[in-house]
Amino acid sequence: MPCFIIPPYILKALMQHGDAQLRSQALETLELSARLAGQRMLVTRFPQMLPRERGEQRTIYDAAHDTLLPGTVVRREGHPPAGDAAVNEAYDNAGITYDFFETVFGRRSVDGDDMRLVSSVHYSKHYDNAFWDGTQMVYGDGDGVVFGTFTHALDVIAHELSHGVTQMTCGLAYHGESGALNESVSDVFGSLAKQWHRRHTADEADWLIGDDLIADKEVRQGVTLAQSTRHGIRQHLHGRQGPAARALSPLLSWPRR
Ligand SMILES: [Zn+2]
Repeated sequence: MPCFIIPPYILKALMQHGDAQLRSQALETLELSARLAGQRMLVTRFPQMLPRERGEQRTIYDAAHDTLLPGTVVRREGHPPAGDAAVNEAYDNAGITYDFFETVFGRRSVDGDDMRLVSSVHYSKHYDNAFWDGTQMVYGDGDGVVFGTFTHALDVIAHELSHGVTQMTCGLAYHGESGALNESVSDVFGSLAKQWHRRHTADEADWLIGDDLIADKEVRQGVTLAQSTRHGIRQHLHGRQGPAARALSPLLSWPRR
């Protein structure tokens, strides 16, 4: 089952409280997410079957507002930036996540063996989510009112790629308590990747996941300043992720670099 960063209860709230356009966009995202969750995801797909090369291998596809994955290749490893911010953000943030896991844990890519990091941007229209589908990352553009482009948030990208690490190591099933632990592990590593990149200590880190997704600047600042949900803007499965994150947080203070 894909691991969506925005849980259904937030999308349902948008359907109840948003204007007509927001309601229909949230409904579309929910319907598409439900369809994806019901599908039996293929463990392998074309890009992952390409020959492996050593080192970081990022490939970014443009889904061109369709739901067929992966889409058209728009940037490969080592290629110069594209003229599309979402493509470059997906590329750069996947690179930071790779560097984080390699530098801190000596793990090369999600499988520890330089598995290609495949991302598709511009998935569907106004799609209010991002997910790891078992083989690759997928990003929507957001509705532009509540949520902005999902490639924008390093912690979200690191959270989703960490689902890949979990899948290929302990394989925690994505339901019930093991699902909550699966989410918790992704929240911890998502937050750590951001903290590592910003060179923050554990005390300086915001411990938020996805605050950069919020489109409205004032709301975004409000979330950050109020720290209203210290462990992220999500609760769903994530509501049960507290203990592991709390247990880990005092241990995770990077030496200043
Ligand atoms: Zn997740």
